[in-house]
Amino acid sequence: MPYQAEYIWIDGHQPTPMLRSKTKILKDSVKTPPIWGFDGSSTEQATGDKSDCMLKPVFTCKDPIRGGKNILVLCEVMLAQTGAPHPTNTRAALVETAKKFAAHEMIFGIEQEYTFMRLNGRPLGFPEESGEPEPQGPYYCGVGAGRVMGREIIEEHTWACIEAGLMIEGTNAEVMPGQWEYQIGAADAITVSDHLTVARWLMDRIAEDYDVVVSLAAKPQKGDWNGAGAHTNFSTKAMRQSYVAIEAACDALSKKVNEHVTNYGHDIQSRLTGKHETAPWNKFSFGVSHRGASVRIPWSVARDKKGYAEDRRPNANCDPYTVTRLLLDTICSNEKAPAKAAAKAKKSPSKKKKK
Ligand code: ADP
Ligand code: MN
Ligand code: MN
Ligand code: MN
Repeated sequence: MPYQAEYIWIDGHQPTPMLRSKTKILKDSVKTPPIWGFDGSSTEQATGDKSDCMLKPVFTCKDPIRGGKNILVLCEVMLAQTGAPHPTNTRAALVETAKKFAAHEMIFGIEQEYTFMRLNGRPLGFPEESGEPEPQGPYYCGVGAGRVMGREIIEEHTWACIEAGLMIEGTNAEVMPGQWEYQIGAADAITVSDHLTVARWLMDRIAEDYDVVVSLAAKPQKGDWNGAGAHTNFSTKAMRQSYVAIEAACDALSKKVNEHVTNYGHDIQSRLTGKHETAPWNKFSFGVSHRGASVRIPWSVARDKKGYAEDRRPNANCDPYTVTRLLLDTICSNEKAPAKAAAKAKKSPSKKKKK
């Protein structure tokens, strides 16, 4: 029996790219999904006269929606003419950076927040036509009608992620009504970004059946309502062993504020205002348990004197491939002895063997 492969890729839409997908029917005998193509002129990735783009499969998992033998196929977009990565392909650059700093064994956990919207553009937790609900307070991790909205979609999405084998870790209702979160990780930069991208696709796809739109907007509702982020938790091997390395990582981040913030998702200034559990976007700070800091060190990490830190700045609409690449680059290129010594120790025995 033939089966279905859903090819998923990130398009060229600005200011925030969107996900696209299409279905290929594969013969029973086909075990690995082949390279495929699409019309880039319809996805803001090419002009009409040179419209062909290439889809290169990079991550495959079970398709929890169709079930059976069917699969989801996450792809990198390549230029058909040269086979080089398309300018919108941020994953290719991450692969290079991850290789360069592999010895640091950096891992990430991303907390994806998002907001359910009705088809008319109003948040699911707001009255359908006009007006606002009760102020924030009862909604975060809430239970009960009128306090949480859309739970059936969350339940379906969580099971879908589990069945697909994605590294989903948990879910919670957020501070603004209609806003939720799931976490993906902890794993190396490429795995966490691939799993998050497929989890985002599954969320779009499942919510579609409910006529609900999943917004990753940084500030979906103006006024006294929380924005939506993608807190990115990170640790190198050295950070998992010593507090000095955690402070060194924060120090390295403090020297590259603009490079990070301008690549952490569209409209970040509207979200990182210094209010609503954020730090101002242009002022770097870090602190233990501090939810008004740019980077938070969890209390348990301060107690154990080792562990990880949380960059609270990335937007819900951030590109995880870019965020993790920047964190790898800034933190690992600043990190000294421990990881490098470990890498050397690892390399030397195999070198000896070869000789
Ligand atoms: P909070 O809401 O309190 O900020 P969450 O429980 O939502 O925290 O998310 C914590 C995140 O931290 C998870 O994604 C998890 O994978 C990640 N994490 C835990 N330990 C590490 C570690 N050593 N390195 C990197 N990330 C980690
Ligand atoms: Mn969280
Ligand atoms: Mn949250
Ligand atoms: Mn967090």
